Amino acid sequence: MNLSGKVAVVTGGSRGIGRAICLELGRQGAKIVFSYAGNTAAAEETLAALRELGVEAKAVQGSVTDAGAVKALVDTAVKELGGLDILVNNAGITRDGLAMAMKEDDFDAVIDTNLKGAFLCAKAVMRPMMKTRRGRIINLSSVVALRGNPGQANYCASKAGLIGMTKSLAKELGSRGITVNAVAPGYIETDMTAAMSEAAREAMLGTIPAGRPGTPEDVAKAVAFLASDDAAYITGQVLQVDGGMAM
Ligand code: NDP
Repeated sequence: MNLSGKVAVVTGGSRGIGRAICLELGRQGAKIVFSYAGNTAAAEETLAALRELGVEAKAVQGSVTDAGAVKALVDTAVKELGGLDILVNNAGITRDGLAMAMKEDDFDAVIDTNLKGAFLCAKAVMRPMMKTRRGRIINLSSVVALRGNPGQANYCASKAGLIGMTKSLAKELGSRGITVNAVAPGYIETDMTAAMSEAAREAMLGTIPAGRPGTPEDVAKAVAFLASDDAAYITGQVLQVDGGMAM
């Protein structure tokens, strides 16, 4: 998985899975530009960890829901790091609640960030990737996109939407040397899942054949493979990284 000479843009790289992806792509030789919503302290930690590895890296604060901020993110990669080979659409949020009581704002915010945000980023990287006739777009979906989950109608819809978008973009961009794939993590221990009750966590663990929760690094390794030249003939796929949870 040699990514030397490649430039990667990772959205939501300040914490959790996004940070692990930045570090893994960096370890494999890529230069990194990552975005974050507002947690500057966490972004500084990711930057410091990347620099400790000797990775050239930049952090850009801005929401994936804002087309102007997305353009600034892509421009940073192209103008300051010399290109753009890999996009990882990782930024995501939850606003859980049973559908009967779910506020419209909570539905919209999750779709805007998780689905439309990924679309805006994918759209912004198409031109630079088409110019070089190579590219990798990797979208972070979820096993709940495949199975559904009570209390997450908004989140599951956004993550299922990402799978449809992944396949459509794979068909649109395949002839230009650009692959588009999704990674569907299972239960991964991050800030996002830390809010779950112990009982819910135990119940979830009982459904994982691997017998343990996933780590951000488990997901990052799969992303690095899909980002590599070794995955050139894989496109439009959903790779489940879930210890067998959603078989
Ligand atoms: P975290 O909540 O730990 O981190 C979320 C990251 O996204 C942060 O870096 C945050 O920035 C950033 N972010 C949030 N909103 C925006 C925005 N509008 N614009 C830019 N960046 C934003 O999440 P995880 O690491 O757990 O999840 C990463 C991805 O993996 C998500 O898409 C999630 O849905 C998906 N996933 C996670 C699973 C899990 O079990 N954890 C399972 C399946 C999928 P900041 O630090 O500034 O807030």
